[in-house]
This record gives sequence, structure tokens and C-alpha cells, in this order.
Amino acid sequence: MSKGHIGVTSENIFPIIKKFLYSDHEIFLRELVSNAVDASQKLKTLSSVGEFKGEMGDLKVKVSIDEKKKTLTISDRGVGMTAEEIDKYINQIAFSGAEEFLDKYKNDANAIIGHFGLGFYSSFMVSKKVEIITLSHKEGAQAVKWSCDGSPEYTLEEVKKEDRGTDIVLYIDDENKQFLEKAEITRLLNKYCRFLPVEVAFGKKTEWKDGKEVELEEDNVVNDTNPLWTKKPADLKDEDYNKFYRDLYPMSDDPIFNIHLNVDYPFNLTGILYFPKIKNNVEVQKNKIQLYSNQVFITDSVENIVPEFLTLLHGVIDSPDIPLNVSRSYLQADGNVKKISNHITKKVADRLAEIFKADRKGFEEKWDSLKLFIEYGMLTEEKFYDKAQKFTLLKNTDGKYFTFDEYKDIIKENQTDKDKQLVYLYTTNAEEQHSFIEGAKAKGYDVLLMDGQLDTHFINHMEQKLDKSRFVRVDGDVAEKLIPKENTLESKLLAKDKDDLTTVFTAKVPNSNKMNFIVAFEAMGTDANPAIITQQEFMRRMKEMSAMQ
Ligand code: ADP
Ligand code: MG
Repeated sequence: MSKGHIGVTSENIFPIIKKFLYSDHEIFLRELVSNAVDASQKLKTLSSVGEFKGEMGDLKVKVSIDEKKKTLTISDRGVGMTAEEIDKYINQIAFSGAEEFLDKYKNDANAIIGHFGLGFYSSFMVSKKVEIITLSHKEGAQAVKWSCDGSPEYTLEEVKKEDRGTDIVLYIDDENKQFLEKAEITRLLNKYCRFLPVEVAFGKKTEWKDGKEVELEEDNVVNDTNPLWTKKPADLKDEDYNKFYRDLYPMSDDPIFNIHLNVDYPFNLTGILYFPKIKNNVEVQKNKIQLYSNQVFITDSVENIVPEFLTLLHGVIDSPDIPLNVSRSYLQADGNVKKISNHITKKVADRLAEIFKADRKGFEEKWDSLKLFIEYGMLTEEKFYDKAQKFTLLKNTDGKYFTFDEYKDIIKENQTDKDKQLVYLYTTNAEEQHSFIEGAKAKGYDVLLMDGQLDTHFINHMEQKLDKSRFVRVDGDVAEKLIPKENTLESKLLAKDKDDLTTVFTAKVPNSNKMNFIVAFEAMGTDANPAIITQQEFMRRMKEMSAMQ
């Protein structure tokens, strides 16, 4: 047996590791299982280039609990390590990496993504002792056991091991006993390892027989090694995408579209994004996109990686090119991440444009679900706006849909005011503003339905974007004055009548609101509304926007 001192200058790295990773102890399992997967993939590669000539056999990674010994073991049949490799990859390299990492972030603990891993060393977050028992795939290799109790001292000795590959044995410490429970390990494997590219088994499959759970011969494989996003879009049907969606989000309605991402230059990225069905008055849940790196689950909070408005989407993104062991602020400034974010925005816009072109009717049917999302994008991402304004739809009170260009043509004759401004009339509540809508329609005007969550913001935005155009709420004034033309009719009421009526009406308006209201007198085409109490357009919008904050 040999003893050694791990290659670090800091004597007490383990307390630091434990403290740093306090909130996310559980990721140790992801780190160890993905190392096991890496080792198996390496063996496959060596075999395919002829450098490994032996039998590969079953490459399943196995996770097991020994309740008596209080150990959790992760076993693989991958490349294994020789004593020299342990020295190089475990004793020196990994530790120096860990130290560098901790040095860098000592004063920035909160800024670190909670989900990163320190690789092999995260095992010490939950263990009082860790053993590596490994036999290299190399011909004539001698199996070795490395053992370390969390101090910088370790031991390395020759042992007997039949099978090629590595067992990592964790002696779980008292504060982390939950990691010896079957249910907890099942939960973690399902969270982090569900789509790993090599089979991972946890115990045996079980079956219920005569009210008892009995173990079967077959390994209980916990992952799907070929998740949908790794497949070719050409081989997939809508049903496949919908099924995968239901696997990810059980109990959800079918999504309305999906976008299969597949980029290999200038960065690597695959994934599937879904537009969820948005139900009226149900708040849209954010952060449903899962981020993977080479099929290893990293996080489901993707803000700073995808643009804000895309966090409303569902699905998965897999990219080894998103730096993970970094702080959030670093992520935001990272060039690659910016590129990825821009690319996703472009893809989403292109796909929407494509669907719009291919099936206008279908697009219109889905518009109510899409609208919030698209408006959000247009309000927040200039690049998305440029593409989206070609397929964004305006819906009028008759339930007809128009693009901005089409709508301009519809209203330009009748709804241009005396200052040559195009006037877009809209309602925020078709029921409450019914009589105003009817009045406007009687004049031959068209009225847009703008009752969505973001519509007031959107209207403000469009007013700045569209040339010589303004939006006027249909109950903002009597129909005659909504779109001021040269010759509006004068009211036939006498000045005294007007004064009296004004006094009567304003008395009815609650005090707190008095400032914002105006009483107007018009000669209506229909005689129906000789007087009107209304609120100024800008006051109304201010109020709506502050109510939405
Ligand atoms: P990383 O995986 O990022 O390289 P780790 O700390 O997780 O960092 O692992 C350090 C190194 O130890 C790996 O690169 C690999 O060479 C070796 N290693 C870890 N686990 C295994 C394993 N199960 N089989 C073979 N080699 C392993
Ligand atoms: Mg690793």
C-alpha cells in the first residue's frame, strides 16, 4: 500500500467544498454517474478505432445501496484507471481544478449557479470516506483501490477485481442519510440522469404479485438513452413530439407548435422547444425549459441563456457549449451564450413565419395562444420584432384577423384624420364598451380587440414604431370625434344645458376620479348619446399599465 498527499496547497479543502455546495448536495450523484457514462463512452470510442480489442459486454452503469454498510456505489464497465491515471486524474488534476475554482469564487458564493459540479470531488459533500476500486481496460492492468477520508491524505493499494471498470463507493455521512434511501436515489436519477446516453440501472425491476412487490431478473433501467431531441427531425412525426411533451410535462394539454433545434456551427446545440397552450386567465408558468449538457440535466432555470420572452416556452435545450461552472453575471456577458440566445430567437421567429406562410388559417386558430408570447417578444427583442411584425395578427371585434400591412389597407380610406394620421380604434372590453363599438361601426370604422395582458404596452410600442399612426380607444370620445375630420357637427344643446348636465354628471363621478374625466357633448348620427362622460386616452393607459405592474 502507498500513501500520499493530495496535490493541493490548501489543507482543508473539504470543509470548503461542503460549505460551498451546501444547498445542492444532491448533484454529487449526477457528477459520478456522468463520469461513469463518460468512461463507458470512451471505451466505445477506443473499441471503434481498434485501440481496445477485448469484449465490451454489457456497459450498463449500476447504482446500488448497501443499507448495512451505509454505502452508495456507482459501478461502470468503462475504461477504468491504472494507478498512474488515478494519480494524474484524481490526485492532481481534479484537485487543482477544484482549488482554482474555489479560489475564483471564494467571495462570490451567491453568484455561482447552484447546479454546477465539482466533478468527482462533489462526492465528499455527502461522504465521510470515498473509495475508488478500478481495473483499467489496458492489457495486463492491475486493479487498484484508492481511499480517502476527506483529509488531503489518501491511500492507494493493489486489490483483486474481476471486472473491467470502476466502482465508486461512498460512505455516506450522518447528515446525508437520505442518500441511502431508495426513493431519494430514484428521484435524483430521474431528475439528472433520465436521458443519459448509456443505460443506467438502479436495482431490479419489480412486479406486484398477490399484494407483494417481488423482484424480477431484469435490471431496472432508469433512462432513455435516445431522447427525441437527439433524433433526426425528418424521422419524427407530430405524435412523437407530443408524446415526448407529455413525458416531460404529464397532465398538460398538447402543445401548439414545436421547434426542433439543431446547430453544429459555430456552437453545438440541439433541443426541442414547445409553445404551450395558453389558457385564458391562467398565469403562464416560466422556467419550464430544461437545460442539458450532453444529455446530462443541468438546470431548469434558463434565464440569461435564452431571451426573457422565450422562458415562456417549454422543452429542452442541450448544449455542451454553455459554460456551466460560472456565475450568472458571467453567463450574461459570455459571447457564446449571446450567440446561442440570438440563434434561438431567430429560429423561433423563422419557424413562426414558416407556419404562418404554410397555413394561415391554422395560424389564426392558434393566435390567441400565441399572441401573448409574440407581443412579449416584440416588446423586448428588437430582432424578433423585425421578423414578427410580418406575421403578427390584429384581431377585430368581428373575430377577423389581419397582418399590420393588411389592416393598414382596410382602414386607410375611412380612418385617416385631418392631420393625415392613421387612427387605429380599439376596445379593451368588448362587452362594457359595446355601445361605443356599435357607434364606431355605424360610422364605417373598424374596431380592434385589444384585451390581452400586454396589449396596452403593445399599443404604446406600436405607436412609436408605426409611421403617422395612433391608437384611440373606442370609448374615448363620441364616434364623430374619434377620428377628427374637417367638418364635425356641433352639438345642438344650449350652453346652459351643457353646464347643467356637466354639474349633474360630475357629481356622480367618485372624487378620486374627478380629475381624469371629461364631459363631452356631441351631435350623434343616431341621437342615442347626446352627452358622454369619458376619460382621456393617456390617463386611461397610465392607469391600465400601472394596474399591470
Ligand atoms: P471531469 O469529469 O470534468 O474530467 P471529474 O472530477 O469528474 O472531472 O473527473 C476527473 C477525471 O477522473 C476524469 O476526467 C477521468 O479521467 C477520471 N475519472 C473519474 N471517474 C471515472 C470513472 N468512473 N472511470 C474512469 N475514469 C474516471
Ligand atoms: Mg466529471
